[in-house]
Amino acid sequence: MAEAPDRDRLFPKLNDAQVARIAQRGERRSVRRNEVLWEVGAPRIDFYVILSGSIEIVQPLPGREESITVQGPREFTGDVDLIFGHPAVVGARAREDGEVLALRREALLAVVQTDPELSDLLLRTFLQRRAFLIAHGKGDAVLVGSRHSADTLRIREFLSRNGRPYTYLDVESDERVQDLLERFGVRPEDLPALIVRGKLLLRKPTNVEIAEHFGLSSAIEDGKVHDLVVVGAGPAGLAAAVYAASEGLDVLVLETHAPGGQAGTSSRIENYLGFPAGISGQLLAARAFTQANKFGAKFAIARSGAALGCEPKPYTIELEGGGAVKARTALIASGVRYRSSDIPGVERFEGTGVYHAATHLEAQLCGREEVAVVGGANSAGQAVVFLARTARHVHMLVRGSSLAESMSRYLIRCIEELPNVTVRTQTRIVALEGSGPCLERVRWRNDATGEEETRDIHHLFLMIGADPNTAWLGGCVALDDKGFVKTGNDLSAEDLAKARWPLARSPYPLETMLPGLFAAGDVRAGSVKRIASAVGEAAACIQLVHKALQE
Ligand SMILES: Cc1cc2nc3c(=O)[nH]c(=O)nc-3n(C[C@H](O)[C@H](O)[C@H](O)COP(=O)(O)OP(=O)(O)OC[C@H]3O[C@@H](n4cnc5c(N)ncnc54)[C@H](O)[C@@H]3O)c2cc1C
Repeated sequence: MAEAPDRDRLFPKLNDAQVARIAQRGERRSVRRNEVLWEVGAPRIDFYVILSGSIEIVQPLPGREESITVQGPREFTGDVDLIFGHPAVVGARAREDGEVLALRREALLAVVQTDPELSDLLLRTFLQRRAFLIAHGKGDAVLVGSRHSADTLRIREFLSRNGRPYTYLDVESDERVQDLLERFGVRPEDLPALIVRGKLLLRKPTNVEIAEHFGLSSAIEDGKVHDLVVVGAGPAGLAAAVYAASEGLDVLVLETHAPGGQAGTSSRIENYLGFPAGISGQLLAARAFTQANKFGAKFAIARSGAALGCEPKPYTIELEGGGAVKARTALIASGVRYRSSDIPGVERFEGTGVYHAATHLEAQLCGREEVAVVGGANSAGQAVVFLARTARHVHMLVRGSSLAESMSRYLIRCIEELPNVTVRTQTRIVALEGSGPCLERVRWRNDATGEEETRDIHHLFLMIGADPNTAWLGGCVALDDKGFVKTGNDLSAEDLAKARWPLARSPYPLETMLPGLFAAGDVRAGSVKRIASAVGEAAACIQLVHKALQE
């Protein structure tokens, strides 16, 4: 149950004028004591303002139900799932006879799109409620897993980055686990297991299965031709969705993992305009995702673009796992991903000691232990600063001779101030050791002196080099020698001849060698690898999408 002052923040009361404006788009209706307003997992729920009586919000747990809060007159129900159109993570029932104002999701979207005061209040409250549910592990899922399992970390990352509240029970340390495993007939080899809505059991689920069960991938409509399909929901894809949807285009975004892309894994972004105190990547992504949904953009999570058909009008993007989507115009915003390292045996420890992101989840796994971070760019610097808050000591291993070659000055200064960080330049890892599945020791060598050192380190963060996510494009668009997508003036006469460029005009600045197919953000050749540039390019791209749609 939320306590004051949380209560006032999470359950603000509407004033008369606000209730009257909402009433214009909804209907008054009576509710009876114990009437279920919606069940947890209901695919489409209404938004309610309580006029009289009270409503109890409940969380399903295996074999029982827990009360989260009781809401009274002038308070309103719901959280971000109402905006996203995702199934409800909690349930609600009337505690007594009363009266409510009920609005369908479409009517609620109309309110937040047209009433700035209510938009601010409702969206802020919905985001805060979701943050509360996540922080308190209250929701419709219980994950039973092990801290030594890569699959457990994968599922935890997937749920967390998609803003799904869940309770985590560790098989090695939580005494409630045994009872639960017996009740659901789960064997140790079935772990990690996800219990959804207190009933359904998923054994070692893939991200695709999880997304399906939580309704995150249901936006795909067979046969529909969208104005714009965006592939990738990093900063570029999210910005494109916001600008396109707010200008009335029908936009669908495909995302393999979670909204936010690389930026979503950043512990603190300090250089994005308008956030003087910095903002976590996860929060920036959650806000942008909510903003895009508010304007009506549709998202299909855990649905990857697997192949692009080269024929335009419409473009066909085949999906991994089957199916396809069609688009009059499309935006390649699939970004980059960390290169897998050439350290011998590294694959063995992926997810059980070797990580490519430093978020709260990984920091929790590290506890007070000593850790190592490999890389000399800003992402590695952020990881060092973040991990140094909780780890006993952070070793930063850099191949170059100084951080100044590759890192922003503000981060170098932060690192220099940290007493528990050692920067080791001209250093590279030569061996990873561990007798079981978990990393136990790391050996590195200083290239200048030839000296080697082995330390008992169980957690290693690899943040080195990134490759563009362009394999799915097949041969349809021209790539530069590193695999980034060529656009605009970078396209040679040869590229255009090969594609049989059909228009009298030349390609627009962010257009590929196929008309109406654009690229923005880190995946684009020559782009500046920054959040602001990805967002800016995507915004500019939507102007060009309008022009292409008219051709
Ligand atoms: C840890 C870290 C910290 C950073 N900190 C900063 C910072 O402080 N300031 C700053 O300006 N920049 C920072 N950056 C860089 C910044 O995050 C990137 O420049 C930015 O995220 C690029 O955005 P993007 O949308 O082009 O690509 P990405 O962020 O790479 O997003 C691409 C998205 O596409 C998805 N995708 C890939 N292939 C497919 C497919 N086939 N189908 C569907 N989806 C697909 C991916 O899952 C991903 O979500 C940081 C990067 C990292 C890794």
